[in-house]
Amino acid sequence: MSEPVVIAVAITGSVPRKSDNPALPVTVDEQIASTREAYEAGASLAHIHVRNDDETPSSDPDRFHAVQEGLRRTCPGLIVQFSTGGRGRDPASRGLSLRHRPDMASLSTGSVNFPSIVYENPTTLVADLAGQMKRFGVRPEIEIFDLSHLHGALRLVEAGLIEDHPHVQFVMGVKNAMPAEPHLLDLLLGEMQRILPRATWTAAGIGRHQAEVMDWALARGARAVRTGLEDNIRIDRDRLASSNAELVALAVESVRRHGRRVATPAEARRILDLPAA
Ligand code: ZN
Repeated sequence: MSEPVVIAVAITGSVPRKSDNPALPVTVDEQIASTREAYEAGASLAHIHVRNDDETPSSDPDRFHAVQEGLRRTCPGLIVQFSTGGRGRDPASRGLSLRHRPDMASLSTGSVNFPSIVYENPTTLVADLAGQMKRFGVRPEIEIFDLSHLHGALRLVEAGLIEDHPHVQFVMGVKNAMPAEPHLLDLLLGEMQRILPRATWTAAGIGRHQAEVMDWALARGARAVRTGLEDNIRIDRDRLASSNAELVALAVESVRRHGRRVATPAEARRILDLPAA
């Protein structure tokens, strides 16, 4: 039996707007409906940002909770991952949603240049978010935008704030950050295997790099891949994606092309060392 692959879908993010792609889910009801379609297409993990009614990023824990409740009702076993990412959010509010104990939350372990801002993750904030995740029993997904962020994760392991087998995501192709290049993924993987040998990993390619980064990850034995409108709103240069589910369907094809199969939610929980739903 071929090895199962977790498909993660990042449904909304903090940057794209409905004027970029009308399929972007923004309201709570739209987010629940879009995730449900993606789940039916094969996604077993949903990465969640929430927005205010004017589409600006929100840190409102009640809004995160409403999405989580809807997903628990409509997508049995789905892994719910909240973003604690920073774009447009007050640093002090980034961990407010953790009290609702999602299965996972994203955790960036260092700062980096983004297209129009510096994405600031000072060590004090990173340690505080990691401590809150530990307190609420939330498994972190470590976001790696640069090589030094792997060492940021190692410092958290050494401080006892995260487990020694974190789930790591390499993010490639963000303008002004790490380019999407296969030899850079090899370099990152080599360093990860040296300092965090028990980690599981995935990689996210931004924009037009989504499909190729997924291919590189699958060719290197990744246990998980990531897609979704947060990272990429297009199928190709001439066509917008019609839904998160359409992007998930492309990921399913990629997984099969690599001789692998799509993980069920129960399998995804085992792969990522999460308790059964
Ligand atoms: Zn995100």
